[in-house]
Amino acid sequence: MLDTPSRRAFWPFRPQPVSDESFSSWFCRTAWQNGLNPADLYRIGLPGARMHRIDLDRFACDELIETLAHYTDMDADDLRHRTFDAWNGRLIEDGATVEKLLWLPPAGTDRTCKSFGQQVCPDCLREQATPYLKRHWRLAFVTGCTRHHKLLIDRCPECSAPIQPLFTSMHVDSVATCWKCGFDLRKTPQTPVTHYSDLAIQKDLLETAEDGWTYMGEYGAVYSLSYFRILWIVYRLLATGQFAMPLREWTSEYLKETVPPTNIPRIKEIELLNPRCRQTLLRYAHYIMQNWPHNFIAACRVVEISARNLIKGYGQEPFALWDPVRRHLNTPPAEIEAEVINAAKRQLKSQNITPTYRELTNLIGVKFQAKSHMAEPGRECAPYGTHRYWKLDGVSAEIRAAAKTAARREGENVGPWVDKVLRSALRQK
Ligand SMILES: [Zn+2]
Ligand SMILES: [Zn+2]
Repeated sequence: MLDTPSRRAFWPFRPQPVSDESFSSWFCRTAWQNGLNPADLYRIGLPGARMHRIDLDRFACDELIETLAHYTDMDADDLRHRTFDAWNGRLIEDGATVEKLLWLPPAGTDRTCKSFGQQVCPDCLREQATPYLKRHWRLAFVTGCTRHHKLLIDRCPECSAPIQPLFTSMHVDSVATCWKCGFDLRKTPQTPVTHYSDLAIQKDLLETAEDGWTYMGEYGAVYSLSYFRILWIVYRLLATGQFAMPLREWTSEYLKETVPPTNIPRIKEIELLNPRCRQTLLRYAHYIMQNWPHNFIAACRVVEISARNLIKGYGQEPFALWDPVRRHLNTPPAEIEAEVINAAKRQLKSQNITPTYRELTNLIGVKFQAKSHMAEPGRECAPYGTHRYWKLDGVSAEIRAAAKTAARREGENVGPWVDKVLRSALRQK
C-alpha cells in the first residue's frame, strides 16, 4: 500500500534520469545510491517478488513503475518511456508477449545462455559525470557511436561477460564496471567505424523507429513495424542459412567491399553477432532494401531465393514483402529435359571441361536445381566452418590456440580477429 499524498515519504536518494537514459540504468543508480543491490530494490518495489535475471527494460511492470515513481517523485510515464514500451507499435508488435523480439535481444541472459543485448560506448561512459546507459544502446541495429565514430561494445573485453548492470552489486555501483570481473569498461580499446555511411544508415533506422513510418521505394510510406520486419528477414538471409554466402557475395560486389564475406561468422543464433558483424550485415541489408523491391528481387533471382523460402503464408508477412515476392519470384523454374543436360555434358567433356553445375548452367543459360545431381561435383571444399582455422609458418601452436580463444571471446572467427590485430600492429609502424 502506498502512502497517502499528505504523508508521502520519499526515498532518501533520488537520482534524476538523464534525458536519453534507459530504465534499467536509472533503476540501478537509484538502488546503489540508496545502499541497495538492484535485486533488493526490485523486492521493495514489488513486495514478495524476486527479480531473478529478468530484463527490466522489457519486463518492468506497471506496478513496479508506479511504486518507483511514487517514492522517487518521478513521473511514471517518463519512466515507462525509458523501457521498451517506447517502441511499442513502432518496433515491437506486442510488448506483452514473451516471444523473442526482433532487434531487441535480451541483456545479460537468454534463459540459461549469455545474451549480449546491452551495448555501451566506452568513450561516452568516460565523458559522463555519472556513467549511465543510453536507451538506444539496446537496439541491435545500433552498432556505432555517432558522437565518437567508434563501434559500441557488447561484452567485457577482459572476461567476455555480457554487460548487465542489474547484476552489479552496490559495492561496485557503476554501469561502467564489469559486474563479473570488475574491469573498467571505459578502458576498452574501441574500434573506429570505417564506413561513415554505416552511421548514416543507423541514424535513418533510429528515426524510422521514432517516427513510426518510412518510405519503401515503389510501396511509398509504410509502417515502421512492417519495415523492420522486412529488414529483419533480409538481414537474417545475409546472416545465416544456405543463401548467406551467395547473398553476401552478390551485395559486396555492388558495394565494392574489400573484406571477404567469410569475415562474418555464419551462426544460427544471429542475436549473438557482435557490433562489427551486425554493422557490416546491416550495410548489406540496407543496400538490398534500397530501390525497393528491385535490388531485393534482383538478388533473390541471382542466388535462387524463391517465394517458398520467403513466405510461409500470404497475408502473414507485410504487404510490401509478399506482394513483390508473389509477383516476381513465384514462377516455377523452367523444366530442363535430361537430354539437354546430357548433350551439354558431352560438349563440355569434348572440350576437356568438367561438367560442373556452374559450367552446365553457363552453357545452357538456365538453372536446373531439381536435376543438379546430373552435374559432376566441382572443386572439393571443406564444409563451412571446418577449415583449418589458420596457418602461418613460424607461429607456435600455443599462440594459435590463444588467438583462437581470444577471437571466440570477442564473437569473431579467427580470420577477422587476426586481420584486426595485424592491421592495428601495422598502423603503429
Ligand atoms: Zn560514444
Ligand atoms: Zn569482465
